[in-house]
Amino acid sequence: MRSARTQVGIVGAGPAGLMLGHLLHLHGIDSVILESRSREHVIERVRAGVLEQGTVDLMSDARVADRLRREGMRHDGIHIAFGGARHRIDMAELTGGRAITIYGQNEVVKDLIDARLGTGRPLHFEVDAVGVHDLLTPHPKIRFDHGGAAHELTCDVVAGCDGFHGICRSAIPAEHLRIYEREYPFGWLGVLAAAPPTSEELVYSLHDRGFALFSMRSPAITRLYLQCAPDENADDWSDDRIWAELITRLSTADGWAPAVGPILQKGVTGMRSFVAEPMRYGRLFLAGDAAHIVPPTGAKGLNLAMADVRRLADALDALYTSRREDALNAYSDRGLRRTWRAQRFSWWMTSMLHRSESDTPFDRRRQHAELEYLVGSRAAMTSLAENYVGVPFD
Ligand SMILES: Cc1cc2nc3c(=O)[nH]c(=O)nc-3n(C[C@H](O)[C@H](O)[C@H](O)COP(=O)(O)OP(=O)(O)OC[C@H]3O[C@@H](n4cnc5c(N)ncnc54)[C@H](O)[C@@H]3O)c2cc1C
Repeated sequence: MRSARTQVGIVGAGPAGLMLGHLLHLHGIDSVILESRSREHVIERVRAGVLEQGTVDLMSDARVADRLRREGMRHDGIHIAFGGARHRIDMAELTGGRAITIYGQNEVVKDLIDARLGTGRPLHFEVDAVGVHDLLTPHPKIRFDHGGAAHELTCDVVAGCDGFHGICRSAIPAEHLRIYEREYPFGWLGVLAAAPPTSEELVYSLHDRGFALFSMRSPAITRLYLQCAPDENADDWSDDRIWAELITRLSTADGWAPAVGPILQKGVTGMRSFVAEPMRYGRLFLAGDAAHIVPPTGAKGLNLAMADVRRLADALDALYTSRREDALNAYSDRGLRRTWRAQRFSWWMTSMLHRSESDTPFDRRRQHAELEYLVGSRAAMTSLAENYVGVPFD
């Protein structure tokens, strides 16, 4: 067994693990990042694309925003469509100038991997059999296989940034965790299409046939989602069927519709709300999807992960520079406050914009009344806007 030592052992090279490693580097703190998948797989995974203002600010402060500044698309507003009409919500005007930026999660990950490689600090892909041990001692350990050898990494702290299906959360004894969970009776069929965006801003639509979302990744690529069954097989959806459904659900009476083009990628995602409390066990700290999942309607998952690691990096800096543990001790409670706020918002957006087979005629009329209230009330639009652009990172 090969032994090594670091200050912070990071499991997972998604947005949370990579950004944490980078922030720690800027604080002069050592870390090792371990990732089970290949570099190509991690970069090519198409997922989130909506960055809150706080995430953009964090990337700028961390000096990894050069490409984001050039290629990211700032959006001051979004559209809500129902009953054949689109209604614009001017988020910047309602929130004192805050906005979202469209920049793919895979681009964020690519930039963070480049930044990490530029620092020369360790980032190992394709590690196997990762396990975390001695979490209640001052020197927790990560054991893993890599390059044909078994390794043991002794750390001061382990950061569990290994996503929903990772091993860190399940290393916490069940009696120390409280799980809150909600599954939704639908999923999203997401497609990436070589078609120029026909709207400069996102369009969230509720149609009698269900939810649809028009989004984009670049001036040549649209990203679109359709509500579907949670166990839907994406292969049952031909390109023609996908476009017919998208056009039906998204087109509005003013003549607006998405442009049609070749579908480059498609996949089905289930929808779930999930929180594990607390986000800490001894010297193990959970961050990002390892601790919480939100349905993607509110576009919060990646942003919550970024807020977690910013807080964790600051707390670790306080530990190393002044031996103060108060910020580390507050990490979980502060994170859970932000998480529950995002959970509420994501649940609300999801229930307002999706059809469920169990809906009664009363539910449908209530849903319509809620949408009419939303687009007719400055107070309601402000509530949506300030949650959508996100509260500043604390
Ligand atoms: C279809 C879809 C659309 C989404 N849209 C949005 C959106 O619009 N806006 C938004 O904010 N969020 C969105 N999300 C959510 C967002 O993608 C996640 O919240 C985000 O990826 C969380 O980052 P993370 O680093 O915590 O976890 P992950 O990105 O899951 O990264 C965890 C990493 O850990 C690795 N790993 C797992 N197990 C191990 C192990 N045992 N050892 C080592 N490594 C391990 C994984 O391979 C992975 O690379 C979306 C998600 C999906 C699926």
